[in-house]
Amino acid sequence: MIGVLSKNSETRAVQEFFQLFKTPWEFYVPGRSYDLVIATRDEIPEIVNTSALVIYHSQPIRFDDQIGVLAESQRRGDWVEWNGVEFPIYGDLATLQSVGRPLVKRKTFDVVGSIDVASERSTVRFGFDLFYEVAYLLSQGQPAENAGFLTLDTHISLLRAMMVSLAVPFVEVPPVPAGYDFMACLTHDVDFVGIRDHRFDRTMWGFLYRSTLGSLLKALAGKLSWSKCMRNWAAALSLPLVHLGLRDDFWLEFDRYMEIERQLGSTFFFLPSKNVPGTLEIGSAPKSRAAKYDVAGITEQVAKLVQKGCEVGLHGIDAWQNLECAQSERSRIGEITGKSEFGTRMHWLYWKESSPEILEEAGFTYDSTFGYNQAIGFRAGTTQPFCPLGAESLLELPLNIQDSAMFYSDRMALSEKEALNACRELLQSMSSSGGALTVNWHTRSLSPERLWGDFYVKLLEEIRTCRVRFGTAREIVGWFRERRALRFDSVRFEENGVCVALRGPAGRLETPFTVRVHHPKFVSDGSALGSHMPAHKDIQWSGEGVLAIPYENVADICEPRA
Ligand SMILES: [Zn+2]
Repeated sequence: MIGVLSKNSETRAVQEFFQLFKTPWEFYVPGRSYDLVIATRDEIPEIVNTSALVIYHSQPIRFDDQIGVLAESQRRGDWVEWNGVEFPIYGDLATLQSVGRPLVKRKTFDVVGSIDVASERSTVRFGFDLFYEVAYLLSQGQPAENAGFLTLDTHISLLRAMMVSLAVPFVEVPPVPAGYDFMACLTHDVDFVGIRDHRFDRTMWGFLYRSTLGSLLKALAGKLSWSKCMRNWAAALSLPLVHLGLRDDFWLEFDRYMEIERQLGSTFFFLPSKNVPGTLEIGSAPKSRAAKYDVAGITEQVAKLVQKGCEVGLHGIDAWQNLECAQSERSRIGEITGKSEFGTRMHWLYWKESSPEILEEAGFTYDSTFGYNQAIGFRAGTTQPFCPLGAESLLELPLNIQDSAMFYSDRMALSEKEALNACRELLQSMSSSGGALTVNWHTRSLSPERLWGDFYVKLLEEIRTCRVRFGTAREIVGWFRERRALRFDSVRFEENGVCVALRGPAGRLETPFTVRVHHPKFVSDGSALGSHMPAHKDIQWSGEGVLAIPYENVADICEPRA
């Protein structure tokens, strides 16, 4: 069991960290003995009863004398490297001179983390504040240029590797259902419903420009195939007929999504009202942010989606700003779907730090706004849904891949080939970390002039090369909620094996959890300090009272990933 001796101000960040790294822990209780104590306080009591101590602090502390460390505080934020993995530190950093072995270094080779296993009590000293980093990542998030780094998950890997190398036996529940690499949530922001809603407005003129001259220029530059260019021209020419009702509206693509995503279960976010652009904290938002469709006018379409197993949520306008708006926008979607449990994502990803509390109080189950307009990746530095520190029950399902971020010329401006490679990299990160991948493909994106449907099909194929469990946003958040509710009643490491008593949601679990056992007996070589998952043993848990896991059957043990 881990004991955590943290500052009072860090309480929520500590709790959330150990929801992401699901392993037995408690706040340090004086007099109790622990396998490992994590200390972040300025003063560490000398009587701490543990065989291994991990200290995170960005300033020199008195205790440094006792462990042979000389810390010197440095400027804020820098890149550090651990075992070939580079990651950013956003808060303060101290460089260390230590009797121990260097572990984490700055690019200038200054040591910012060291390990000493030669002394009576093994000690690891890090020159940064873990729980400051956690709080920063879960509230501000990383700047877009660091989107590709799983910074928070790397902090978890680092601590896990320390525990293994200090020979601390422990169990954990990985963030993915047993038998899968990760979960995937396909979502669609419904910014437009038909081009018929747009007569002589900015959207229509923009469409005409991009589908004709814009397409031609792209085709000439080799960035668009000639067949797609022709399709766009044909669509532009047919526009008068669409407006006259003589041709189908080519922006209506709900059925095509049903066909492409058959049985994968996707989530559609609808705007709550017509002609409302919403407000910024000061003044109003650009007019073009307003919907030109009225969700109350397409109730049949919404009902059809629900009937096909899709989920419908709110694409919020002002819900992120204040409770009154959040409540009224929520009730509008609730009235149309007849559902009470659903979530939201803000239009144009508008957001402020207090948004999670507002959305939680308004009754949303989850939010999926935390992502980037101009990048793809991991804003919170983790692949997992999490509870924002200001909230108590609302879960944030971070947004990872967005079509317009990849393809818009003023954003990443990727070619389809570059975009596919970028997505592949992201899928690799997902496979190594578990968690949930959230994709936002706007409903309009299959149609002219975007024509991003072929790419979307390719992306789905790519995702399906991994062992992926698809689900609607509510289903995926629901699985993580169950995992969050798991309690380790007891974990006993005995002579021949380990007994784990786990308490979870009542009833038979549809998707079993994995209980992963790390024990020095499973570690056969010096790879324990690696950044990858060290040797361990996995066992499925479907609600049994006690799991007895023997140390033998070495063949079952998972070797470290290459
Ligand atoms: Zn939107």
